[in-house]
Amino acid sequence: MTKIIVVGGGAGGLELATKLGRTLGRKKRAQITLVDRKASHLWKPLLHEVATGSLDEGVDALSYRAHAKNHYFDFQMGSLNDIDRERKVIALSELKDEHGELLMPSRELEYDILVMALGSTSNDFNTPGVRDNCIFLDSPEQAHRFRTEMNNQFLKLHAKNGQGTVDIAIVGAGATGVELSAELHNAVKELRTYGFGDLDSSKLNVNLVEAGERILPALPPRISSAAHSELTKLGVNVRTNTMVTQADADGLTTKDGDKIPAQIMVWAAGIKAPDFMKDIGGLETNRINQLVVKNTLQTTLDDNIFAIGDLAQCTQADGSFVPPRAQAAHQMASCAFSNIIAKLNGRDLKDYIYKDKGSLVSLSRFSTVGSLMGNLTKGSMMVEGRIARVVYISLYRMHQMALHGLIKTSLMMLVGRINRVLRPNLKLH
Ligand SMILES: Cc1cc2nc3c(=O)[nH]c(=O)nc-3n(C[C@H](O)[C@H](O)[C@H](O)COP(=O)(O)OP(=O)(O)OC[C@H]3O[C@@H](n4cnc5c(N)ncnc54)[C@H](O)[C@@H]3O)c2cc1C
Repeated sequence: MTKIIVVGGGAGGLELATKLGRTLGRKKRAQITLVDRKASHLWKPLLHEVATGSLDEGVDALSYRAHAKNHYFDFQMGSLNDIDRERKVIALSELKDEHGELLMPSRELEYDILVMALGSTSNDFNTPGVRDNCIFLDSPEQAHRFRTEMNNQFLKLHAKNGQGTVDIAIVGAGATGVELSAELHNAVKELRTYGFGDLDSSKLNVNLVEAGERILPALPPRISSAAHSELTKLGVNVRTNTMVTQADADGLTTKDGDKIPAQIMVWAAGIKAPDFMKDIGGLETNRINQLVVKNTLQTTLDDNIFAIGDLAQCTQADGSFVPPRAQAAHQMASCAFSNIIAKLNGRDLKDYIYKDKGSLVSLSRFSTVGSLMGNLTKGSMMVEGRIARVVYISLYRMHQMALHGLIKTSLMMLVGRINRVLRPNLKLH
C-alpha cells in the first residue's frame, strides 16, 4: 500500500492529512501518517488571544490522536530532523519528557510520498539579546509564557496599589504585533472587572515598534492608517521607522541609541523556516530555509516530496512569493490533496495559484479592519467593523469545516456561545 506521510499538523498539514484520511485512508488505498512534535493542534492565528487570556486554548485545542482515529489516518508524535531521499525515510528525534527522561527512542519512517508542512518560526535576524530576552509567539507554550509574565506584572502593580505601569514592547507591526497590542488593551479592560479595580489603560504602556515607515506593510496604506489611528486611540504608542538593534533584560535599544524600557518584550518581526531545514536531504532551500517548490507544490529536486504552508517558497506569476498566511496554507492543502490523487492515478498535476481573499486584522473587540479582494470590485475593497469581524472569524470557521465538516463545526460554534455565558471572558489562571 502507498505510504503517505504528512509532517506538521498545523493550518495546512492537518487539513491535508484529514482529507487524505477521509478518502484514501478510509478506502485503504493508502496508509496516511501524520507526524507532529506536539500531541494537540491549535490554529496558530489564535495564539495572540491565548497570550492575553482572551481565549482558553483548552477549549479550542484538538487532540491529534482522537482526530486521527476519526479520520482514518495514523498519528506519530515526533520531531523530524532529517530526510534520506535515497532510502525514502524520514528521521525523528528521540522524545523526552520535561525531566529529560526518554519516552521514545529516535526512529525512522518510510514514505512513498512525503508532504512537508512544519511551518515557520520567528526570525530574529541575529539581533543581539533577542533570543534570551524576547518572547516569540510561535507556539502555545510561548503564548502561556507571555500570559504568565503579563499576569505577574499586573499582580505586582495591584500589590503596589496601582503605582507605576506595566511596560510591554512588541517588535514588528505585522498582523501579529498589531493584533496583540489591541488584545492587551482588551485584557486590561476585562481584568478591571475581575477584582483589579486599580487597573486601567493608563497603567498599560504598550510600544509597538516597526522598522518600516508604516504598520501592516503588507496591506494597502489606507488600511495601515486606519489601524494606526485605532491603535493610537486605544493608547498604543506606535513607533514606525524605528529599528531595534539590541534587546536586554530591561528593554530594547534602537539604531538611534534610544532605549525603550519594557518588562515584557515580544518579537514578531518576520519569519523563517527552522535552521535544521537548510539543504535538508539535499533539497533546494532558500535564504530563510524554506523548501523551494514548483507550482505543483512538489519540491524542485524531488517529485515525491511536496511542501505546503509557511515552509514552502512558491513563486507566483508576477515573480512574488506566496505570503506566509493561514489562507495560503489552507489553499495549498487542497491543491496538494488533488495533486497527490492525480499522481497516484497517473494524471497530470495542476499548478497552485494563490487566491488572495484579502487580509483582515482584528483589533480585539474594538474594531476589525482590512481589505477584501472581490471579483466585483476588481481589486481590494476596504472593510471595517461588523462585516470585517464576521469575515475574520470565517477564516477560522473554514479551517474547522475542513477538519470537522458542517455539523460538528456548527455544534462547536454553539458550545463557544454557551461558554461565553458559563466562563469568564478572560482566562485568569
Ligand atoms: C500570532 C499569530 C497570528 C497570526 N494571524 C494570522 C491571521 O490572522 N491570518 C493569517 O492568514 N495568518 C496568520 N498567521 C500566520 C499563520 O498562522 C501561518 O501562516 C499558518 O499557520 C501556516 O500554516 P502551516 O501549516 O504552514 O504551519 P503551522 O500552522 O505553523 O503548523 C506547523 C506544524 O508543524 C509542527 N512542527 C514544527 N516543527 C516540527 C518538526 N520538526 N517535526 C514535526 N512537527 C513539527 C508544529 O507543531 C505545527 O503543528 C498568524 C501567525 C501568528 C504566529
